[in-house]
Amino acid sequence: MVEIIVAPNAGFCFGVKRAVKMAEESVEKIKGSRIFTLGPIIHNPQEVERLKGKGVKPLEGEELREGDTVIIRSHGVPPEKERELRRKGVNVVDATCPYVKAVHEAVCQLVEEGYFVVIVGEKNHPEVIGTLGYLKESGGEGIVVETLEDLEEACKHERVGVVSQTTQNERFFKEVVGELSLWVKEVKVINTICNATSVRQEDVYRIAPEVDVMIIVEVRTAGTRGGFTA
Ligand code: SF4
Repeated sequence: MVEIIVAPNAGFCFGVKRAVKMAEESVEKIKGSRIFTLGPIIHNPQEVERLKGKGVKPLEGEELREGDTVIIRSHGVPPEKERELRRKGVNVVDATCPYVKAVHEAVCQLVEEGYFVVIVGEKNHPEVIGTLGYLKESGGEGIVVETLEDLEEACKHERVGVVSQTTQNERFFKEVVGELSLWVKEVKVINTICNATSVRQEDVYRIAPEVDVMIIVEVRTAGTRGGFTA
């Protein structure tokens, strides 16, 4: 007989649940306004269709009008993007996950303290693009690191501050920090990997040796690649 073990932390993460709830609440609160999400709120066609049925649809080339409502999904956006929406007279519902907000704050803090910033993450990930917007806004310098080879530029600096995309692999994050500490005089680390990611990674490492086959069903926020988002 086949035994199926479901990982204890499987399912939507806190940030995605929160964004979907905020979308549903917008339908209740905002009557007579078109409601869009800035990209699909989750990479899950059934859920996107369900929300469409309630009147919340991903923005797909429609020209925004004053009075429309736009929901920023859990990944967040660069501050300039949010300002652009508000300039159009759009009602903005910010469903950026608080853990992503914490990365923005960490980056601004590191810049204020004079560090060159290393963001461990995927260069084209929407969350990282949003975080880079905060780096730029705060007037800081920094790079996104996807591989250890990307660290060359950071190693030219004496003081380097490190943060992570929330869904980064912990082992790679440790490798980056270890490598930097060999080459850079001062390294300040703010670990911004979110708990939802850590517990899923721990489940995988713990369960994998005990089973013959492991199937990871990745339900993730749209625009992401890999990781253990939700
Ligand atoms: S994975 Fe973490 S940071 Fe990302 S949306 Fe979910 S709870 Fe928030």
